[in-house]
Amino acid sequence: MSTLAPSRVQVEELVRSILRRQLGAGAAASADGAAVARRPHLVANISARHCHLTQADVDVLFGEGYQLTPMKRLYQPTEFAANETVAVVGPRQRMIPGVRILGPCRSFSQVELAFSDAISLGIDVPVKPSGDIEGTPGCLLIGPKGSLVLPKGVIRAERHVHMGPKDAAYYGVKHLDRINMRVEGTCPTVLEGLLARVHEDWKLEVHIDTDEANACDLAHATKVTLFRGSSSLTRIQDFGS
Ligand SMILES: [Zn+2]
Repeated sequence: MSTLAPSRVQVEELVRSILRRQLGAGAAASADGAAVARRPHLVANISARHCHLTQADVDVLFGEGYQLTPMKRLYQPTEFAANETVAVVGPRQRMIPGVRILGPCRSFSQVELAFSDAISLGIDVPVKPSGDIEGTPGCLLIGPKGSLVLPKGVIRAERHVHMGPKDAAYYGVKHLDRINMRVEGTCPTVLEGLLARVHEDWKLEVHIDTDEANACDLAHATKVTLFRGSSSLTRIQDFGS
């Protein structure tokens, strides 16, 4: 090799600097020059029982024109936990008081329960993605100013992961694809078939309910990762948290 030829180290550095400029912040170049997207920050949160309400239903339960008041911003910045709660009543008058309302108001009312909640209420609740409430059971809702019969909308929300387009590209999934989650810690668990929900406004966040989170002791998990593949035994690709 001629001494005028650039060294391998120089070539690698040149390739890296070109890739850095082309890809901008948020991407790095590996030693062989291939672009490697930066690992997204994965957050797994527990979605405790809650409800979403239409403004019309808020009017009935809290009084005409009542506006929900934010108690806490949620990880998805468009959502908040309201100060307001309702009681959810099932058949035979079994009741769960203090069910948190998440705002802002939506175009449909929906109550999301864990199976253990639904069992205590005596409701045989289906697993559904949020918004898919046709044919689902209803309940009675009681607020401080009134009550109403919700004809449908009681579901056990399907485990899912909110993603932005860059996260979806990183994990190689599209909207409504499935992805798995491994939880490491005291109760190691693989949860399969999380629904990928992709929206440009969303931050990367897994939502599982309290039953699922308790089963895998999510609160004390040491590591949480998402990976594609039909099962943990035929894992295609693993991703860090
Ligand atoms: Zn969610």
